[in-house]
Amino acid sequence: MSDAPEARPLLLAGGRVLDPSQGLDVAAGDVLLVGGRVEHAGERVGRPDDATVVDCAGLVVSPGFIDVHCHLREPGREDVETIATGARAAAAGGFTAVCAMPNTDPVTDNQAAVGFIVRQAQRAAASRVYPVGAITLGQRGETLAEFGEMVGAGAVAVSDDGKPVVSAHIMRTALEYARTFGIPVANHCEEPTLAHGGAMNEGAVSMRLGLKGIPSEAEEIMAIRDILLARRTGGHVHLCHMSTAGSVDLIRWGKARGIRVTAEVCPHHLSLTEDAVEGYQTNAKMNPPLRTAADVEALQAAVRDGTIDVVATDHAPHHYDEKEREFADAPNGIVGLETALGVIVTWLVAPGVLSYAQLVDRMACAPARVFGLPGGTLRRGAPADVTVFDPERRWTVDPATFRSKGRNTPYAGRTLQGRAVATVVAGGIVYDDRSTPA
Ligand SMILES: [Zn+2]
Ligand SMILES: [Zn+2]
Repeated sequence: MSDAPEARPLLLAGGRVLDPSQGLDVAAGDVLLVGGRVEHAGERVGRPDDATVVDCAGLVVSPGFIDVHCHLREPGREDVETIATGARAAAAGGFTAVCAMPNTDPVTDNQAAVGFIVRQAQRAAASRVYPVGAITLGQRGETLAEFGEMVGAGAVAVSDDGKPVVSAHIMRTALEYARTFGIPVANHCEEPTLAHGGAMNEGAVSMRLGLKGIPSEAEEIMAIRDILLARRTGGHVHLCHMSTAGSVDLIRWGKARGIRVTAEVCPHHLSLTEDAVEGYQTNAKMNPPLRTAADVEALQAAVRDGTIDVVATDHAPHHYDEKEREFADAPNGIVGLETALGVIVTWLVAPGVLSYAQLVDRMACAPARVFGLPGGTLRRGAPADVTVFDPERRWTVDPATFRSKGRNTPYAGRTLQGRAVATVVAGGIVYDDRSTPA
């Protein structure tokens, strides 16, 4: 995170200025950033004498992308990722801000732990990192953490992600408590007795591969529980990484009744099915698991119509050796910060499921709205956090070039369309790929 705003004005010139937060879409316009704030976004403007000018012809200039769900592994597993490498990976993916989940070692469940993340992020001087505090002490699911103290130190939400909140009573109390601080409670929806021991989606493929499956209902039972508890408490529940068509129906049901439920979906659940597990591919092992084509279709429709508010990566770096284990024993998760934009353009925008304006909304505006974060808009006076991306650029995923320490991706060798070209935080360029040929 850049604390000190860039002193020189920055003019992002001649790009497609796309900001759904204010219905802005100018084919060849300018964005002018001064003193760490947006000074102007829209039609062409004059160039201030001392401005740095970036030619954005043919590129999209949008509010900076925000990832509300990633795992940066520090403290505890700095060999796998650090806040600094994670923040640089975020910048390379076009994210100007990310929310770091608290399932570190030790767990981010108190004021000092939250403060540590804030300081490490400042030192990294790349994308902004917002800490998410744990719901319960040690993520043990027993005693609520001190939400107020964590919010005071910089936490923007609470979650026990990595683990579900098993006790409905604890979830109810968390929603009531979080409401007083105006923060969402983000839950990893997984009914543990039903998911127990499962390594992939339960269905024809798991049966053929002889792997224990996780049924859709493991997610859906807890999703509807949380929606009902949000109705009871008036609290804001945010459902992490939704993976099933049934969950989409439940969220739609809740939203239609005015319940404060928001949800996210990951690029992998929007693009891959359980078939990716064939051959016991551990880079297709994640939790929740990849589901069926019908689920992917329902999730795509839900992100299109806004039932699912946000695209989030669930970036989860693991050590190479750990992913090399037998499928059933391998850890869950893939890295996602550097491939998210390309996956969404390739699988959703290019085939006509989403417009670029919808992509920018789901990856920039909605995350800011849902988590109450600064940014997500290019309105005058907003933080000068901007993503410049090339919507046409084709590139082949080579994990060896990732800024993340993680290499675990099912997209290795795939050709994607769409790539961040420049990432601007507080008016300063934190990632610049303009020199690399397409
Ligand atoms: Zn999770
Ligand atoms: Zn996660």
